[in-house]
Amino acid sequence: MLDLAIIGGGPAGLTAGLYATRGGLKNVTMYEMGMPGGQITQSSEIENYPGQLEIVTGMELMQQWPEQCQRFGLKHEMAQVQTVIKNGDIFQLTLGDGNIVEAKSVIIATGSVPKKAGFKGENEFFGRGVSTCATCDGFFYKNKEVVVLGGGDTALEEAVYLSKICSKVYLVHRRDTFRAAPNTIEHVKHTENIELILNSEIDEVYGDAMGVNGVKVKNRNDGTIRDLAVPGIFVFVGRDVLNSTLKQPDGSYLCDLNQNGEVIVDLSMKTSTAGLFAAGDIRIEAPKQVVCAASDGAIAALSVISYLE
Ligand code: FAD
Ligand code: NAP
Repeated sequence: MLDLAIIGGGPAGLTAGLYATRGGLKNVTMYEMGMPGGQITQSSEIENYPGQLEIVTGMELMQQWPEQCQRFGLKHEMAQVQTVIKNGDIFQLTLGDGNIVEAKSVIIATGSVPKKAGFKGENEFFGRGVSTCATCDGFFYKNKEVVVLGGGDTALEEAVYLSKICSKVYLVHRRDTFRAAPNTIEHVKHTENIELILNSEIDEVYGDAMGVNGVKVKNRNDGTIRDLAVPGIFVFVGRDVLNSTLKQPDGSYLCDLNQNGEVIVDLSMKTSTAGLFAAGDIRIEAPKQVVCAASDGAIAALSVISYLE
């Protein structure tokens, strides 16, 4: 029986693991379905993590986090947790291979995944010209033109990153104002090979068996279509929280969620179910920052220690 099961190995899950084990819990396992590090490993550069003066990639930032946790005894299992149910005081986690693990407490830190924009061709060409990761796929478009869709921090930051690899970046956004940080907006506006296409949406992405050949962009004001002959489009239109693990056999959820599917917590990261805590991007009102996810993880672990005592 585990003292604590942590689901997700991003900044929130890893920090929860660090604080739980360093705080004296002996039997703690973190379940991560991929490589530990979380979504930030897809970021081309991070410049707002405190104490990190040098601008590094997300992958570089996260490199040492797992090792630091393991030093204090955190066990890491590469597995997807399918479901969590509660039987009396005990949680039962079903893993991808069908194994069932029991735990006295659980921290859910499964974060989020990229949203789909919903344009024609998005699914058909996904992985063949439609991408949600500039650091993973940007190099395929070296010296070529690409489209970036979105108007938030991710779209603008990744547009700047792509502008250093690609000959030109068309940044398509559905409104005429952005929701990114002001200095990022300025950076975009001063980057010569980024062209802004505002008040516009993607009408269609088209191509053939080899991949994408072009993107049709529709102006929302006058309905005119501009045909851009590009081989790639990067879609950064926000993220959906990953809460399916909390779904119960009867269709309800293990704890209370808000209308966006985010886990409702109090300031100690407690959910509505005793012994279940949530941390990071999955919780309500998450600022969606690495430093905040890490902070949540620490708070959740300290709350678990009090709960088990
Ligand atoms: P995540 O990082 O999403 O980690 C969740 C982990 O859980 C994942 O590794 C996932 O594989 C795992 N998981 C999910 N479901 C299961 C399951 N059922 N079983 C097992 N494992 C599971 N923030 C900043 O502060 N500064 C930045 O510059 C910045 N740039 C960003 C750039 C990009 C491109 C993106 C996408 C995000 C950026 N962010 C940035 C936001 C930041 O990455 C997130 O706020 C942070 O990673 C959230 O951490 P988390 O641990 O809550 O979730
Ligand atoms: P976001 O802030 O939610 O922005 C999503 C963007 O996509 C918005 O501009 C939105 O348009 C647009 N959009 C949404 N659905 C669309 C659709 N169907 N078609 C076309 N456009 C659509 O998402 P994000 O940029 O991924 O950022 C997520 C969170 O992570 C934010 O809190 C952000 O601050 C944080 N983050 C921080 C950093 C950093 O600190 N440096 C970096 C990356 C991300 P509207 O504007 O019209 O709604």
